[in-house]
Amino acid sequence: MDDTLNFDTLAVRSGTLRSDFNEHSEAIFLTSSFCFSSAAEAAERFKNAEDAYTYSRFTNPTVSMFQDRLAALEGGEACIATASGMAAILSVVMSALQAGDHIVSSQSLFGSTLGMFSQIFSRFGIATTFVDPKDLDAWKNAVRPETKMFFLETPSNPLTEIADIEAVGKIAKAANALFVVDNCFCSPALQQPLKLGADVVMHSATKFLDGQGRVLGGALVGSRKFIMEKVFPFVRSAGPTLSAFNAWVLLKGMETLSLRVEKQSANALEIARWLESHPAVKRVFYPGLESHPQYALAKRQQKAGGAIVSFELKGDTPEAQRANAWRVIDNTKICSITGNLGDTRTTITHPATTTHGRITPEARAAAGITEGLIRLAVGLENSDDIRHDLARGLDSK
Ligand SMILES: *Cc1c(COP(=O)(O)O)cnc(C)c1O
Repeated sequence: MDDTLNFDTLAVRSGTLRSDFNEHSEAIFLTSSFCFSSAAEAAERFKNAEDAYTYSRFTNPTVSMFQDRLAALEGGEACIATASGMAAILSVVMSALQAGDHIVSSQSLFGSTLGMFSQIFSRFGIATTFVDPKDLDAWKNAVRPETKMFFLETPSNPLTEIADIEAVGKIAKAANALFVVDNCFCSPALQQPLKLGADVVMHSATKFLDGQGRVLGGALVGSRKFIMEKVFPFVRSAGPTLSAFNAWVLLKGMETLSLRVEKQSANALEIARWLESHPAVKRVFYPGLESHPQYALAKRQQKAGGAIVSFELKGDTPEAQRANAWRVIDNTKICSITGNLGDTRTTITHPATTTHGRITPEARAAAGITEGLIRLAVGLENSDDIRHDLARGLDSK
């Protein structure tokens, strides 16, 4: 599709394929394989498996529509969808690296991503050095002759630290390393890493692309050469494939992506400002607040602050802090107590005892995740109602 079209038009229109029935809405092709009219046609289609439909582990029309739409939204040439965000990480590493290679990665990562790098890939001879994502010298100094990949998430979870994608990209380029950015927290509605120098954008489509907490999905977007020559052969052989049904759910989610994420960001900013003035709150972490240490960078790199707001409660001891955080969480009646994010429904999490509960207390302290910390992933409810929901616990002692 015409790639001079604007984001909102691409979100609704791009990637659409129509069958002979000329259906208006995208069809769900729930079929494991596709028929051929002759042995010769079968042979021909298997030869061009990238472009022809043969078997749904390789290609499927509903999945193709999702891939093309996400590529359009990220400004990439090609996309391969995967069964989950973690399957996308597995696929990019298996496609691009081999034993003996080295990764430089941000230390502020989604928990399972950290686990993959430090416990799984390491067993296959791929080592990772973790760095503070804000420290450009640390990225530079971690490079070794065998460094083949840089991996970054920005903003980080749950403290919303911002890394400078363009600056890290220059260091990756100088090192000849593939620069992969997990764009899950912003989504392409707020941030497009490929335009800032990333080689590959990775997604957990489970979050904002679906946006309604229904299905798992993932994706990798990048150059046609990398996606089709490296990633496609791995995914079609190994099979971490996205299902046609989930691709259809995600296609429908993407049509409302920017509406949702912009409104969620506006709600999040209102809630963050209010939390900042609340006497029970010690500190608020939100890239849209002037008090955020990288406010200027966030403004340059992102269209808005995003939906994730973290805040730390006061308390004289870690035990008191935890009691205060749990009281706020337990007094909510609207917010969902759950680990997911990116939903239309606001979710509330205590990272120290859930998402970051399995790491050592020392590692947790080093990551700045205190007992008083609460993560909110703001949804589409009226923000006054969410404020009242939080005030119940914040105002009581
Ligand atoms: C959820 C998440 C993932 C993993 O995605 P799944 O779809 O759950 O496999 C990766 N990165 C970030 C930043 C996430 O929030």
